[in-house]
Amino acid sequence: MVVVGAGMAGVQTAVALREQGFKGTVTLIGAEPHQPYDRPPLSKAVLLGKAEDSAFEVDFESLGVELRLGCAALGVRPAAHELDTEAGPVPYDVLVLATGAEPITLPGTEGVPGVHLLRTLDDAERLRPVLAEQHEIVVVGAGWIGAEFATAARAAGCAVTVVEAADRPLAGALPAEVAAPMTAWYAESGATLRTHARVERVEPGAVVLADGTRLPAGAVVVGIGARPATGWLAGSGIELGAHGEIVADARLLTSVEDVYAVGDCASFPSARYGERLLVHHWDNALQGPRTVAANIMGETPTEYDPVPYFWSEQFGRFVQYAGHHAAADRLVWRGDPAGPAWTVCWLRADRLVSLLAVGRPRDLAQGRRLIEAGRRMDARALADPGRPLKDA
Ligand code: FAD
Repeated sequence: MVVVGAGMAGVQTAVALREQGFKGTVTLIGAEPHQPYDRPPLSKAVLLGKAEDSAFEVDFESLGVELRLGCAALGVRPAAHELDTEAGPVPYDVLVLATGAEPITLPGTEGVPGVHLLRTLDDAERLRPVLAEQHEIVVVGAGWIGAEFATAARAAGCAVTVVEAADRPLAGALPAEVAAPMTAWYAESGATLRTHARVERVEPGAVVLADGTRLPAGAVVVGIGARPATGWLAGSGIELGAHGEIVADARLLTSVEDVYAVGDCASFPSARYGERLLVHHWDNALQGPRTVAANIMGETPTEYDPVPYFWSEQFGRFVQYAGHHAAADRLVWRGDPAGPAWTVCWLRADRLVSLLAVGRPRDLAQGRRLIEAGRRMDARALADPGRPLKDA
């Protein structure tokens, strides 16, 4: 058994295989030189120096998992059942692809001093002194990473300007109505949010916007999204989708025999939502591997159809989202969006399909179960924040 990518999904695949009784050899191959680590703390405790690192507490040796770190996979030759790596070919019976995602760079700024990304432990370590020295920082992109980085930078006392090309934060994830109260969080924290702002170029010490505005910048942090890290699979015959993601089936098998894909690098068909999902969140990299291991080990195929879940910690708030919504779904508010805690629910034909909870973890926990159950809900009862969600 060979697993490529030693992030959350790769590590959990190795762990799940052992948990489910796999007795053969398991080799986990990762491009990064570090002991496998968890990413969410990178934009939180690790960035602020409250935690040194976020290595997984997994004893690979006692699990009987061979780690090959600092070794990038270069290609797959399915006919030969071989993986090509920097250290030479590795034969496999079953291969699991878990190479995650890589951040999208701002064209023209690759390798420019003072321009940072935030994906790896090395990135976080480079950014720590930037915060400690209280640089004036321009963050490009008001998505999840941009918001979390801005939160940490403000906590460290830096002056922060966030520039966003769209008309609001999280434009790719949430409708304007839901993003509106989040816009206020930036100003409340002392960060400046500039929407409709396109970066023209980055110069030493400044970010120049398309309208000619020059923003002083001791450092620039680019958080404009991530794409599946699958360039290395070109020519392998493994089907990739429009976003470069590995196209897996409901069992998380790829288009090629004996090759599975899981985590940020792969999309899967969701029967629950009637569309293919490409999820770039931690819980998917935890749950998916269990299905992969079950399908490798079991006689009966197991289908992967989760209620996706993620959280974000931004501007002193705990934001959680479960499910998946589409533009046509009906939106129901629970609570005052100007207040510290509120929830938004999305209904499709009276059934809860997703919810976003800000400071209301109980709503999230109950909502997640209701989505799974697919029970019909009363929208009026749902809108009453004083009533438990499960009773609506
Ligand atoms: P990755 O974690 O990207 O791991 C893939 C690994 O594969 C990497 O180590 C990479 O180096 C390696 N690799 C890539 N190509 C190759 C190759 N060719 N050969 C060998 N190895 C290769 N999600 C949440 O739900 N909540 C959060 O609060 C949250 N915070 C986050 C904060 C940050 C800063 C980041 C970056 C992500 C955050 N996420 C969060 C998302 C979450 O961390 C990811 O969804 C999760 O890490 C995905 O795991 P993965 O194993 O699929 O991919």
